[in-house]
Amino acid sequence: MPIGAVVVDGRGRVLGAGANEREATGDPTAHAEVVALRRAAAANGSWRLEGATLAVTLEPCTMCAGALVQARVARVVFGAWDPKAGAVGSLWDVVRDPRLNHRPEVVAGVLEGECGGLLRAFFGERRTPP
Ligand SMILES: [Zn+2]
Repeated sequence: MPIGAVVVDGRGRVLGAGANEREATGDPTAHAEVVALRRAAAANGSWRLEGATLAVTLEPCTMCAGALVQARVARVVFGAWDPKAGAVGSLWDVVRDPRLNHRPEVVAGVLEGECGGLLRAFFGERRTPP
């Protein structure tokens, strides 16, 4: 899956980046956001990523939205909406659930056309027999 995520601190410095590694690692939790959060926390020396922004190609799923809340990121930026599994406004809105004590700011649809195009191209190619 051509999904990438990056975590930057409050000064715009990159703390960690990741791509979807689920197939490569056989790890069902290795979504781009989780990979980027793990690397960012390691670089940060703490699981608390307060003040950080995570940007990702596709709207995060429920697992990743939960991880973003757990990491206390300040802001989530994503490109394409995921109407089939999105948990940052599409099917659920986990990160802005008022019952949770931490709610990141959301900036949705940034470079939506480009991000959606990457995914459409990937799935279009995979449907085409070699
Ligand atoms: Zn995910």
